[in-house]
Amino acid sequence: MHKLAKLDHRYVWHPFTQMKDWLQREPILIASGSGAVLRDVRGREYLDGNSSIWTNLHGHNHPKLNAAMVRQLKKIAHSSALGLANEPASLLAEKLVRAAASATGRRGDKGTRGHEESAPLSPSRLVPLSSSRSLSKVFFSDDGSTAMEVALKLAYEFTRRTRRSPKPRFLSLEGAYHGDTVGAVSLGHIDLFHKAYSGLLFKSDKVASPYCYRCPFNRAKPERRDAREYAQCQRECVSLVEAKFAQQRKRGNPYAGFVIEPLMQGAAGMIAQPQGYLRDVADMARADGALLIADEVMTGFGRTGPMFAWQKEGVQPDLLALAKGMTGGYLPMAATLATQKIFDAFLGDYEQFKTFFHGHSFTGNQLGAAVSLASLELLQTKQSIQQRSKLEQVLRRALMPLWSLQTVGDIRQVGLIAGIELVRDWRTKEPYPLRERAGIRVCEAMARRGVLTRPIGNVIVIMPPYCTTAAQVQHIMDSLYQSIEETLQNNSRIASA
Ligand code: PMP
Repeated sequence: MHKLAKLDHRYVWHPFTQMKDWLQREPILIASGSGAVLRDVRGREYLDGNSSIWTNLHGHNHPKLNAAMVRQLKKIAHSSALGLANEPASLLAEKLVRAAASATGRRGDKGTRGHEESAPLSPSRLVPLSSSRSLSKVFFSDDGSTAMEVALKLAYEFTRRTRRSPKPRFLSLEGAYHGDTVGAVSLGHIDLFHKAYSGLLFKSDKVASPYCYRCPFNRAKPERRDAREYAQCQRECVSLVEAKFAQQRKRGNPYAGFVIEPLMQGAAGMIAQPQGYLRDVADMARADGALLIADEVMTGFGRTGPMFAWQKEGVQPDLLALAKGMTGGYLPMAATLATQKIFDAFLGDYEQFKTFFHGHSFTGNQLGAAVSLASLELLQTKQSIQQRSKLEQVLRRALMPLWSLQTVGDIRQVGLIAGIELVRDWRTKEPYPLRERAGIRVCEAMARRGVLTRPIGNVIVIMPPYCTTAAQVQHIMDSLYQSIEETLQNNSRIASA
């Protein structure tokens, strides 16, 4: 075993990892990377099939991002945002506000029939930058969980202060995952991750997520295409949200906020929302007076096509959580954008103590801000926009052959994200029990073929960096196809017997 692997085994505790399994085999030890390729200490190369857990945008070792960091490093790495301002954080805040204000959703975008197309942006939903409803203030923090924690605390306190409710309550989607800190976990609804901590959490409500493939209201028989395309229903997923709002209003404590990952729920299993869902539920939240809290930790920065996913349906959130790709995947840095109206509720004379008492040591970190600025600049170039658009099409085409596999039940693509749901037989949709580790075994087989990704239960996630070439996408998909065949297809008859 490599000497670094020995050290890892002896000292490191890995996230979301059963360490008993981990300690039984030599880990892949990453030594370097460039573009979409990661290289281990033995010189083996792998394609980064999930952008290093959904963080990397432009590829590893990008010359422009490296240069921006080095430039900043020569000035200063970090000074505190408590009592001090700094250059890159100020510039970045302005850029983020402008990016959020320009509803530059690719309006004519064509995707999976019906579902990926941008809805026309309704003028009533476009909010001018000067409006008190526009996202105009940026609170920096460290990662997705802290960005959500900030959003939650702001929403809670705003709601109390504006006297909407002394006991603000939140609504989020089934299967929601918004991070691992206690507040973010309270908004989440994945029993496997969250149940053990229920004694630590505050109560929040959940409503069914629009999971067309496994929706109890979908009367359609399974077909060989994205379930959003053939679902037969009365859009009960939207009515259920409406019913929740009405019920809570009746109780005399209307929701403080509706928390949602726009267009696609990530850790829930890459659950893609049918077209119009986001717009409809956002309108409901707005009509109810609840704050719309968009968690774009995964979907932000071009991952679904436009800069932010909500722009695709012309929706305007009141709070927006950003992380992961913000630095291009280089450093832990996050931001929560808030409307002027929310910001104003925290203004007052010192002795009124209306201050937002929250902050982290590295809030507004210069190195992170400098690389985020460079990443944003790259994202907004014509070349990057074209590259993303092309990659989306390449991915769509390359996913098609997977439908021929008996153990592929659903393929859900939103922009540059794809989730492939594995089942025993597509005709029955029977899921593999988690203990069979179907997703993990497929990903292990992919790693042997030089492609790295991590499953969510039985869903294989493909989310390549934007610089991934068509040939590399093909290699990812070939390896996925072969790995499913090797791991599941040969056993599927026996397994279902
Ligand atoms: N929200 C979403 C939608 C996420 O996908 C994640 C992480 N996977 C988080 C929040 C938490 O982010 P972090 O791991 O950076 O704390």
